Amino acid sequence: MASNRKVMVLPGDGIGVEVMAANLQLVDWLAKHKSLAFDISEDQVGGAAYDSYGTPLRDETLADAMASDAVLFGAVGGPQYDELAFELKPERGLLALRKEMDLFANLRPAIVFDALVDASTLKPDVVSGLNIMILRELCGGSYFAEPRGIDDQPNGQKKGYDTNAYSTREIERIGRVAFDLARKRDGRVTSVEKSNVMMSGVLWREVMNNLHEQEGGDVSLGHMYADNCAMQLVRNPKQFDVIVTDNLFGDLLSDCAAMLTGSLGMLPSASLGAPDPDTGLPKAMYEPVHGSAPDIAGQNLANPLAQFLSFAMMLRYSFGQAAEADLVEKAVADALASGKRTGDIMAPGCEQVGTDGMTRAVLEAMNALAR
Ligand code: NAD
Repeated sequence: MASNRKVMVLPGDGIGVEVMAANLQLVDWLAKHKSLAFDISEDQVGGAAYDSYGTPLRDETLADAMASDAVLFGAVGGPQYDELAFELKPERGLLALRKEMDLFANLRPAIVFDALVDASTLKPDVVSGLNIMILRELCGGSYFAEPRGIDDQPNGQKKGYDTNAYSTREIERIGRVAFDLARKRDGRVTSVEKSNVMMSGVLWREVMNNLHEQEGGDVSLGHMYADNCAMQLVRNPKQFDVIVTDNLFGDLLSDCAAMLTGSLGMLPSASLGAPDPDTGLPKAMYEPVHGSAPDIAGQNLANPLAQFLSFAMMLRYSFGQAAEADLVEKAVADALASGKRTGDIMAPGCEQVGTDGMTRAVLEAMNALAR
C-alpha cells in the first residue's frame, strides 16, 4: 500500500531483531484492518552493521534516517563486540543517530498496567493506574556543556569538572515540548531543577515561567526541586502528569520512574527533535528502553511489549494517529489482562508464553477491539 509516512526500521542486535519482527506484524495488521500504511525501509545498525560493513552506522543509513518521518529502533549491543575500539562499538551507532538528528527531547512514559500492579516494588495503591511522562533534555547540560575535563593542578593533584550550562533557547525548546505533551494529556507540567543552589536552575525556572506566560496559558505549570521530585516520585507518583527536567536530573528521575512500573520489558521511549518547518513533524526515534539482552536472545523469550508501546508512541507523536495508538496500548493492556506473560513479567496463575505467543495475544486483542 502506498504511503507518504516514511518510517525507517532499524532492528539492531539480539532481541532487537525479535521484537522488531513482532512489531512489523502490528504494522501489517494496521495496514490490513485500518488502511494505515507506512513506507518502510529497513537497514542494519550496531553490531549487525559492523558485521556487514565494518561500522555501527553507515553514512547511507544516517542519511535515510534523516530523510524519514520517524525511525523505529530495536536495540544494539552484545558481548562479541566488547573488545572493539570505542568508535566501532554498536552503541556508537545509536548515539550518532541521536546526535546527528539533534534529538533533544527524550520522552519516557511510566505507565502501570492494571494487570502488572504487583510487579512494582511499591504498594499497589501507590502505583495502580499510574500514567506519567518524564521529559528529559537530552543534548545539553552537564553531559555536553563546556568546559569539562580533567586538569593537572599546581599542587600535583588533578581536578575533574563538568559544567551544567543551559541557554534560554535550550530551555525554551524543551519547555515547548513539555507544554505540547501536557496539551495531549492532563494539562499539567512540573518543571524540575535545583534553583535553590544552581544558577542553571535559576535560569531554567525563569525561562520556563516566561515561556508559560507567553505560550502556555492553556496548561498549568508548577516547579519542584529535583531532590524533592525524587522523593515525591516514590511517595506519591500519581500527583504528576508531565515532568520536564534537564539532562542529568532527567537521567536519574526517569530511571526512578521506570522502576515504578516494575519491568524493563515494558518501557517504551521516544526521542524528538525540532519540528520540520515544512511538515511540522519533529525528527523522531522510537525505541524500547531495554538493550539487546544477549542472555535471552534468539530463544523466543523476549517481551515485545516495550517495542509495541514505542510503536504506539510513534503513531501518536509522529503521525497524529491517536486512535490507533490508543488501540495498540489498549490491546497490550488486554493481552496482559488475559493472563499471558513472558518470563520477565511472569506471575503466579498466569500462562507463560514466548515472544510469538505474546505477539499473538496482542494481535488477538486488536482483532477483538476492532470488531
Ligand atoms: P538489557 O536491557 O539488554 O538486559 C538487562 C536484563 O533485562 C537482562 O537480563 C535481559 O534478559 C532482561 N531484558 C531486557 N529486555 C527484555 C525484554 N524485552 N524481555 C525480557 N527480558 C528483558 O541490558 P544489558 O544486559 O545491560 O545490556 C546488553 C547489551 O545491550 C549491552 O551490549 C548494552 O550495551 C546494550 N544496551 C543497548 C541499549 C539500546 O540499544 N538502547 C540499551 C541498553 C543496553
